Amino acid sequence: MAGRVVVVGGGLAGAKTVEALRDGGHDDGILLLKLGTDLPYERPPLSKGYLQGADERSSVFVHDAAWYAEHDVEVRLGVQATALDLPGRDVIDTSGLRHGYDHVVLATGSAPRRLDVPGGDLRGVVYLRTLDDSDRLRAALGATSRVVVIGGGWIGLEVAAAARAADCQVAVVVRDRAPLLGVLGDRLAGVFADLHRAHDVDLRTSADVVRVVASGDGAHVGGVELADGEILPADLVVVGIGATPRVGLARDAGLAVEDGVLVDAHLRTADPRVLAVGDIARAAHPFYGTHVRVEHWANALNQPTTAAATILGRDEPYDELPYFFTDQYDLGMEYVGWIGPGGYDEVVVRGDLEGPELVAFWLREGRVLAGMNVNVWDVVDDVRALIRSRAQVDTTALADTSVPLADLA
Ligand SMILES: Cc1cc2nc3c(=O)[nH]c(=O)nc-3n(C[C@H](O)[C@H](O)[C@H](O)COP(=O)(O)OP(=O)(O)OC[C@H]3O[C@@H](n4cnc5c(N)ncnc54)[C@H](O)[C@@H]3O)c2cc1C
Repeated sequence: MAGRVVVVGGGLAGAKTVEALRDGGHDDGILLLKLGTDLPYERPPLSKGYLQGADERSSVFVHDAAWYAEHDVEVRLGVQATALDLPGRDVIDTSGLRHGYDHVVLATGSAPRRLDVPGGDLRGVVYLRTLDDSDRLRAALGATSRVVVIGGGWIGLEVAAAARAADCQVAVVVRDRAPLLGVLGDRLAGVFADLHRAHDVDLRTSADVVRVVASGDGAHVGGVELADGEILPADLVVVGIGATPRVGLARDAGLAVEDGVLVDAHLRTADPRVLAVGDIARAAHPFYGTHVRVEHWANALNQPTTAAATILGRDEPYDELPYFFTDQYDLGMEYVGWIGPGGYDEVVVRGDLEGPELVAFWLREGRVLAGMNVNVWDVVDDVRALIRSRAQVDTTALADTSVPLADLA
C-alpha cells in the first residue's frame, strides 16, 4: 500500500507529483508543504512573457486552489520543512510540527547563487527565482534606465531581452569570452552574442565583476566595477550566476548527496520511502548509464510521473532525454540531449548561423549527443531519435537541409 505521501516543495515538480499520484489512482492522504504564499507555479514565464507583461498572472500557476481541494490534496503554504526523521517517518517543519509519511517526495528545487563581492547586498541588486522577484523586477524595469546583468546564462540573457523590451540601456557582464560558452561552444554561443549585440546590449565578455558601487546615497546601487577598473553605471543590477540545489534535508538525514540528491532510475534514495524529483534529483539514467541532474522545466514536469509510479508499486524508470528551451527577442530555441563528462569532438550546423535559422548537433565519434534547433520547429522528435539510435551519422548529410533528419536515425 502506498499510504500517506508528503511532498516537500511546491514548484512544478512538487505540484506534478501530487497530480501524477491522483492520476495514477493513489487514494490515501497527500500533503504538500511549500515555502512562500503562492500556490505552485511554473518559472519559465518569470523571465519571459510574465516579466514582459504579456502573460497573465493566473497563467503561471500549475493548478488553481479548487483543483487541490477537488483532488483532496492538503496544501500548506508558508511552511518550511527543516528536517527528515527517517526512522520515525516524519517530516519536521519550522514550528516543530511532525508530518508522518509512508512516502516522502523531496522537490525543494534550487536557490540562486549569490554574488559574493563588496556591495553585493546594496539595494537594487536583485535575483530572479520567485514570482515575487519577477513582479519586483518588472516594476523596476519600468522605472529604471540603466540595467547591468551579471552572468550570461539563460536567465541573464532572457532578463537582458526583457530589459531591452522595456527600453532600458542594458549591459551584460560575462566571465567567459562569450555568453553560454560552456553549454554551446564558440560557434553557437556566437549566435546569442550576436543576437544581443544586434539589440544594442553592451555585452562585456571576459569580464569579471569585483565590486558593486553605491550611488550618492550610499545605500542604492550606482554601478558595477569590473576587474580592469571600469565602472558600468547602473540603477539596477540583476544577478544571474546560476543556482544550487537545495539538498539540506536529504544531506542532514544522512542520505547520499553529490551535487544533488542521489536517486536510482525510479527516483528513490537509499531509503526507498524517500524520493527526489526535479532540480535536486541526481538520477541514475538508463540511457546514459550514469547519474544525471537537470535544472530544467521538462525534467520537473516529467520526473513526477515516475516518482508516482514508484510509490504506487509500478516499474517505470525515468528515461527521458534532457530538454530545455529559451525565448529571447524573436528567437526561439529548443535543446535536447546531454553532452556528459566525455565532451564532444565535433559540431555540425544545418542551416544558417546568421539568420539565425538552424539545427546544431554536438557529436562524439560520429554519434549525435545533443541537438539545438533555433527558429526551426518540429524537429525535436527527430533529434531525439538520432540521439537514441547512437548511430554513426554521415555529417555531410546531417548538415544538408535537403536530407530529412528522420532518414538519418
Ligand atoms: C526565472 C527562471 C526561468 C526559467 N526558464 C526556464 C526555461 O525557459 N526553460 C527551462 O527548461 N527551464 C527554465 N527554468 C528552470 C526551471 O524553472 C526549473 O528547472 C524548475 O523550476 C525546477 O522545478 P522544481 O519543482 O524542481 O524546483 P523549484 O521550481 O525551485 O521549486 C521548489 C519549491 O520548493 C520550495 N521549497 C524549498 N525548500 C523547501 C522546504 N525546506 N520546505 C518547503 N518548501 C521548500 C521552494 O520555495 C519552491 O517553491 C527557469 C528557472 C527560472 C528561475
